Amino acid sequence: MGLSAGAAQAETDAITAVALPAHSDEWERRLLAHPELLADMAFAIGGPFHVMYPRRVGHTIDAFRAVFEQAGVEGTIYYGKKANKAACVVRACAEHGAGVDVASVGELSSALAHGIRGEDLMVTGPAKSDDLLWLAARHGALIAIDDDMELERLAAQRIPVRVLLRVLPEDSASRFGMTRDELDIALARTDLGPVRIEGFSFHLSGYDPLPRAELAAALLARCREARTLGHPATTISIGGGFAVDYVPAAAWSDFTGAVRPQWFHSDKGFDSYYPYHSATAGPAALEAVLAHEDLARRLRDNGIRLAIEPGRALLDRAGSTVFRVQGAKTRTAQGLPYQLLTVDGTSLSLSEQWFDSEYLPDPVLWPTRPGTVTPASVGAATCLESDMLSWRRIPLPRPAAPGDLLVYPNTAGYQMDSNESAFHQLPIPPKVVLHEAPGGRLRWTLDAG
Ligand SMILES: *Cc1c(COP(=O)(O)O)cnc(C)c1O
Repeated sequence: MGLSAGAAQAETDAITAVALPAHSDEWERRLLAHPELLADMAFAIGGPFHVMYPRRVGHTIDAFRAVFEQAGVEGTIYYGKKANKAACVVRACAEHGAGVDVASVGELSSALAHGIRGEDLMVTGPAKSDDLLWLAARHGALIAIDDDMELERLAAQRIPVRVLLRVLPEDSASRFGMTRDELDIALARTDLGPVRIEGFSFHLSGYDPLPRAELAAALLARCREARTLGHPATTISIGGGFAVDYVPAAAWSDFTGAVRPQWFHSDKGFDSYYPYHSATAGPAALEAVLAHEDLARRLRDNGIRLAIEPGRALLDRAGSTVFRVQGAKTRTAQGLPYQLLTVDGTSLSLSEQWFDSEYLPDPVLWPTRPGTVTPASVGAATCLESDMLSWRRIPLPRPAAPGDLLVYPNTAGYQMDSNESAFHQLPIPPKVVLHEAPGGRLRWTLDAG
């Protein structure tokens, strides 16, 4: 051959993506290091499945709360439930003093069933159904009003109800929220009966803390104005959009700096990727919001409670998705071999193709053992050419074989169940919940949701 190891590596690099190993939590390392736990789950379930570790959700809630406490701000955390349906997440919220943000009767019922009290619910969404508004009012939930007609429908029910007015930011093309004029009209109404306007809310796209801090600051004046009109405006909700840091900075810049279609099966490339690295993620992002132009002090001075609605960030490192390798073909690109794997599930369990992209944190090939680095793309067990879990050739540490498991990390936030379907009559993957057993052992049940 005569190729040095370095030159051989450089040749494979031409068709192989840069590795993007995810940050991992201690429970994930324990699970991967355990000699049979994953294999036993796979055997019992007989298809793809998700693993949830709700304790991690509890730690993250505590970390957000610690930021509020350190800043001396009264804060409330509402988990944005659409990010994951699992009952164990709601239970963790209940046990750690967080509320839940819901947008349907199904979500509201499930939150109540798994321990959230009505007063700890936030109800959001546009033009809510009559049933949802009625139930929310019955249970004393805080309702984010999206338009004037909703306010009118609530007033007509004559049930005491707590509401926030959702604000459409200036210069925003969002389809949610009320304009400045609509807010003026709502605040000036005198026919609201038992409807109490407790403050304002918004939810911005993107992950930048600054626009959130600025809009919250601007709403302080709105709260003061609402109070002069007789409303008990004491809450500002800044919504969700706290970033998650999936992969380290260096790996991310290596990937984004060099990514090219030749790294992907059939030279498929994507125009954009989710920002899988963030230097200011989760609770640190809240810290940045509160620190901006002394927002914390201004909230205190105005007697304002700050609410947040994190979805993805509360689920950071709280779950993984496990597929079994069913087939492994060898193919070549530019004369170099790679594996084309087929797993027993579909790309809908990774949910990034909604955005014409793919989920980039690398799956772990299990059992973990050393070998020869082998590039591999990962396809689904369906008859669709486009149903690929990973188009890119991932540098797996050894060749994969049928029966091996591929564990995609950090999938609890949106990836695992936002658009799963029973396509091909394949069962929807169940969620396994990991528990700490006495003696430092891990054991598992199926999620109650
Ligand atoms: C989706 C959503 C959230 C959660 O957003 P994340 O980006 O997951 O934090 C919070 N509030 C509202 C109103 C939402 O629509």
